[in-house]
Amino acid sequence: MEQQKKRGVLLVLSGPSGTGKGTVCAVVRDHLGDSVCYSISATTRQPRPGEVHGREYFFFSKEEFAALREQDGFLEWAQVYDNFYGTPRKFVEEVLDSGKDCILEIDPQGALQVRNATDEAVLVFIAPPSLEELRSRLTGRGTESEEEVEKRLGCAAAELAYRDKYDYIIVNDDVEKAAMKMEAILLAEKCRSVRSLSDK
Ligand code: ADP
Ligand code: 5GP
Repeated sequence: MEQQKKRGVLLVLSGPSGTGKGTVCAVVRDHLGDSVCYSISATTRQPRPGEVHGREYFFFSKEEFAALREQDGFLEWAQVYDNFYGTPRKFVEEVLDSGKDCILEIDPQGALQVRNATDEAVLVFIAPPSLEELRSRLTGRGTESEEEVEKRLGCAAAELAYRDKYDYIIVNDDVEKAAMKMEAILLAEKCRSVRSLSDK
């Protein structure tokens, strides 16, 4: 009997800025290679030093962002801190249709929009071991000004309050262990009976 290609898993990842989402994702991608794709968001924020258009983000002007939003080109979008961020819809659909898994790294407002838009999303929250550790990671990363760090820490408590809306919570106290948990979630989701028995 010919095996039908299964649709990939849509994994939505959120957590306060500095909690280690990017670091953990990089390890997962390293382990899993091409079977996992990472959705590149569009944003109206300025690139940080070293960031490249089309690699970390698509850096859009406000007008370009609004134009894609008007065409219903975003699976979700939100204002985070002082800028707009959104997930281009087409890429995610193509990846899932091809049978590969797709990771979105987005804020809780966006994650809840995805939850409402589709019943296939798996929501994972990456939490810091403590707020003190979060502060130390944010300052240690050295990519934001002191004022920006305070703004992000100010939002962290509110973001943590959303964690009960997620299917899974991973406390990132150790990068390798956190990555292993994320890989275990992907594997378990692939084994769901609804996925194994459906012809999609
Ligand atoms: P996010 O993508 O959530 O904003 P990053 O992945 O940029 O966070 O991580 C923020 C900082 O914390 C980085 O300097 C990273 O090296 C560090 N970091 C990430 N995970 C851990 C961990 N488990 N233990 C210690 N430091 C970590
Ligand atoms: P940063 O500016 O540090 O890269 O990201 C700031 C915040 O925006 C993070 O919480 C990140 O998860 C969120 N974010 C990044 N891309 C998107 C997106 O496409 N949609 C939404 N809703 N949030 C995003």
